[in-house]
Amino acid sequence: MSSLLPVFGGKQGRGAGRELEARAASGAPQTPVWFDLDAPPPLADVQGRRYEYLRLSVTDRCDLACRYCMPPGGEGDHALRPELMSFEENARLVAIFARLGVRRVRFTGGEPLIRKHFTSLVQAIHDASEATELVLTSNATRLAPVARELRAAGLSGVNVSLDSLDPQRFREITRGGDLGAVLAGIEASLDAGLEVKINTVAMGGINDDEFGAIVDWAWARGITPRFIELMPLGEGAKMTEAFMGVPDIVHRLGERVADDAMGPVVTGRGPARYFASAADSSRRVGVIAAVSANFCDTCNRVRVTGRGDLRVCLASQRAISVRDAFRAGASDRDVAWATCWALGGKAQGHQFATDGGAHEGVGMSLVGG
Ligand code: SAM
Ligand code: SF4
Repeated sequence: MSSLLPVFGGKQGRGAGRELEARAASGAPQTPVWFDLDAPPPLADVQGRRYEYLRLSVTDRCDLACRYCMPPGGEGDHALRPELMSFEENARLVAIFARLGVRRVRFTGGEPLIRKHFTSLVQAIHDASEATELVLTSNATRLAPVARELRAAGLSGVNVSLDSLDPQRFREITRGGDLGAVLAGIEASLDAGLEVKINTVAMGGINDDEFGAIVDWAWARGITPRFIELMPLGEGAKMTEAFMGVPDIVHRLGERVADDAMGPVVTGRGPARYFASAADSSRRVGVIAAVSANFCDTCNRVRVTGRGDLRVCLASQRAISVRDAFRAGASDRDVAWATCWALGGKAQGHQFATDGGAHEGVGMSLVGG
């Protein structure tokens, strides 16, 4: 369920001015006269963090149901087709964000490749904002046949979720996934010239005996592996006994990583920290301390859900509706202002430990993980 900030208490009735209606639809206060979209202020918040990275969810549906993410049979509240942002709306949104300084867009979901004609969306966004880097996060089950056309449409990289190299274990974790199709998707992406990373959710007692093998497998193909701490969101909140912190994850990698592994390479692109291989410093393994090390201080991302809710934080329900603003006739300038306004007041960090469990109702596939 969407929870928009009720600045004006929702849409205005018949007869209200179009401009007021559009503004109310986004949930933001009136655009101030000084706000100039040709010379906008940096997209930043009161903590001084700047936002240059958009995670754009294109669907909340998925063909898998990973144990830490999706309930069996899917979430109960999937968006209907008309509720989703259209390709035109997404392209318009990215063009506005580009004017605000956003340089990188990651398509996510749910599973983005479930969305019909996804390649056309990539192409439309690439055409609308050529300077914006476009990347994808995918489970890769449907990637092999489209990897080449996605590259041609303007996609430059893909992060593939891969929690096990054992077909039976993979099937159990994903509730039915076909490891062969995923590996074919990875190979096809490499052949197509996409930069490939793999993301593995670290789960004690479930896949921690495979971390070393996953790293070796990835490095042998020129792929950067990354391990993510299990987050207590949605289904993940039911698996807290499997949580593993970064020191335990790095420990499992043994001698693969250099002795000075605790001095990680910082790339500045996101919350991942990278450790170099002991044997070859050009090889890296990433760890994402999503829970234990609060990376909120350096957060540089903004999220838009498939329904067009702009979420300032993964773990927060604070949102404005870009979709409703577009559909009520908002100008690009009004949407840009609403975005600056929503982000400006963002809280300092997630409150996993202190929010009384409110984040547990925010499933990753619904927000766009
Ligand atoms: N379906 C695509 C995929 O799996 O890559 C994109 C969406 S998925 C929600 C994005 C990322 O969120 C995946 O890497 C997945 O492993 C991660 N994820 C989902 N639930 C998580 C949780 N509770 N803790 C940590 N990572 C999680
Ligand atoms: Fe689907 Fe990705 Fe969630 Fe797995 S992690 S259920 S692939 S959305």
